Amino acid sequence: MAFSFFTQELAIDLGTANTVIFQNDQIVLDEPSIVAIDNNTGKCIALGQKAKLMHEKTNPGIKTVRPLKDGVIADFNAAEMMIRGFIKQVNSKHRTLFSPSLKVVVGIPSGSTEVEIRAVRDSSEHAGGRDVYLIYEPMAAALGIGLDVEAPKGNMVVDIGGGTTEIAVISLGGIVQQDSIRTAGDVFTSDIQYYLRQQHNIKVGETTAEKIKIAVGAVIPELQDEPEPEPFVVRGPNLMTAHPVDATITYQEIAHCLDKSIAKLEASILHVLESTPPELYSDIVENGIFLSGGGALLRGLAQRFSEKVNIQFHVAEDPLRAVARGTCIALKNVENYSFLMR
Ligand code: ADP
Ligand code: MG
Repeated sequence: MAFSFFTQELAIDLGTANTVIFQNDQIVLDEPSIVAIDNNTGKCIALGQKAKLMHEKTNPGIKTVRPLKDGVIADFNAAEMMIRGFIKQVNSKHRTLFSPSLKVVVGIPSGSTEVEIRAVRDSSEHAGGRDVYLIYEPMAAALGIGLDVEAPKGNMVVDIGGGTTEIAVISLGGIVQQDSIRTAGDVFTSDIQYYLRQQHNIKVGETTAEKIKIAVGAVIPELQDEPEPEPFVVRGPNLMTAHPVDATITYQEIAHCLDKSIAKLEASILHVLESTPPELYSDIVENGIFLSGGGALLRGLAQRFSEKVNIQFHVAEDPLRAVARGTCIALKNVENYSFLMR
């Protein structure tokens, strides 16, 4: 197409934890959704991975911000700075003579209010998007997993991100039932911080707690494949003495400390199933329920959910990128998919 030279097309998964951008079917950016800002000038000094390294290690002159911390744009300025910065980063890789006009598809949480939707749209437009389409994240996840979202058939996805867990039943290109709860990766991380304070008298930051979650995170007390290297040794100040101490954390402990939060997800999944029309429900029983998002990587999650709900759960391939892949598929079909919002 003659115009493609001037029109740049990007599919953006603007996640609360990670932003992933696809261009021409390829991942051109995958970075934590964090910006570091100079408190005096208000300017962005680092983005993504670089900013994440500064997180919890700043001085009063610098702050790190996660613009989407609770599943929605919490800090409009920072969000715009971040989107703009990421798009610039993508462009610096292939320099063009003209500043191209930008067509983007951006994923948004299914529970977004009008105001929140507007905030994402405005941020994307201010960051240079001329043609901005929005897609609900569970719809994008379903597309990315490879489900036929337009079929007269019930499909169910559970996307467990950083700020929110999105649960949705999809049929005929629309979301039939959904729930969006703020129990997700960030909560699991703070569950671990709380547990370490209570049980091991040790204080750890979010960054370390997240490392523990990734290294030995589990949701059932008996895993078939135990994580290696197990157990995880964490060092921190003893709460009483401030002396450095080591604590050894096993996956069983993590399964125990995440139990309440995982139970909230189960309740919400059951609630969505309860209100699903019976014909769609029977499709779901037949096909199973698909898990995506970083939280889907918790060990034993599909097994635990399957036992609780009595329906088979499947973890998507490369769950951290399912929404981005789906957003990319949507970008190629903007003319055909009626569920895209302009
Ligand atoms: P979002 O879409 O909100 O940006 P993601 O789908 O990218 O979220 O998932 C990020 C979340 O997944 C973070 O809370 C992160 O700690 C968590 N996560 C990433 N990898 C793992 C893992 N291996 N085990 C458990 N949680 C993980
Ligand atoms: Mg996501």
